[in-house]
Amino acid sequence: MNLYYIPVAGLDPAGIEAHLESRGIEPRYGRRLLYWVYRKGIKSFGEINDIPVRVLKTINESFDTGLSSPLASEKSADGSVKYLFTTAGGLLHETVWLPEEKRRTVCISVQSGCRMGCRFCATGLAGWGGNLTAGEIVNQVISLPDSFTHVVFMGMGEPGDNIEEVIKAANILTAEWGLAAGSGKVTVSTVGVTPSVKRLLDETECNITLSLHSPFPDERLGVIPAEAMWPFADTLRLMKEAGNRRKRRFTVAYVMIEGKNDSDQHLEELKRLLSGTGIRVNILPYHPLGEDSERSSGDQAMMRFKHLLVTAGIGASVRRSRGTDIAAGCGMMAGKRSKSL
Ligand code: SF4
Repeated sequence: MNLYYIPVAGLDPAGIEAHLESRGIEPRYGRRLLYWVYRKGIKSFGEINDIPVRVLKTINESFDTGLSSPLASEKSADGSVKYLFTTAGGLLHETVWLPEEKRRTVCISVQSGCRMGCRFCATGLAGWGGNLTAGEIVNQVISLPDSFTHVVFMGMGEPGDNIEEVIKAANILTAEWGLAAGSGKVTVSTVGVTPSVKRLLDETECNITLSLHSPFPDERLGVIPAEAMWPFADTLRLMKEAGNRRKRRFTVAYVMIEGKNDSDQHLEELKRLLSGTGIRVNILPYHPLGEDSERSSGDQAMMRFKHLLVTAGIGASVRRSRGTDIAAGCGMMAGKRSKSL
């Protein structure tokens, strides 16, 4: 990608039309360009066959598609694939493609690294490189060799810490002029940066997942430092208030660690917090990092938690680990070029 050209990926109809007009090109070609970039994933404007050649020549002088292929990929024994991308500015970031029966989920990054420093997460421990643009975020969906049915903003970075670009990207993914993924198919996962959650609710149609870890604020603070600035109770309140005003799903992600957050007290507090709210619980296994002595709760403990939540009228599921052999599981992404990537 040429740094001096305007990338089309990342623009909405108003944005592309304004850029075209400023270069003396009829704005009516804007939506065609977006179609070719977002739906067809073209790497060069020469692939377009329904815009006059003389117009394409002018477009070529000022614009770039903004799309780029992954640098490398690695396939897990379970069929999931991890991709390594870089931006024009050299920010490495990872994307995971997860096939599961009819569902094909793409887990995308919003930053290179992360500033939130959550204790159980390799991304947080590796530090922060910078924000991705909306174009770089959606490129991770468009430029994969495989198709998708669902997109989760659950890779590297905290969406609430790059909210302007995340909102643009989420809208490109769901809009008819964009990838038209369908609003129920796109989920943004956050530690609960409250002002950003509010914006996601007001400005997008996406599902939202809150990374909870513990229903007790003090305990959560020990693992998720963001709790000090943005208490999870505020995000839960926003989710409850939004209720079913729009057709979208709210979930709490609960990474379960043996002897830490899988007790009956945790269960009872979760039930108290979530009863009657319509917010679901997604229970996830823990992936220990490095010398970490903590272990994931076992399958039985997770299934018991799920069962008791469901019995109390709270929707719950246990997500099995995927791609752990290629460090593509939840909290395992580090954005480094390993021997195999
Ligand atoms: S869990 Fe999410 S917010 Fe926390 S450090 Fe990892 S990437 Fe950042």
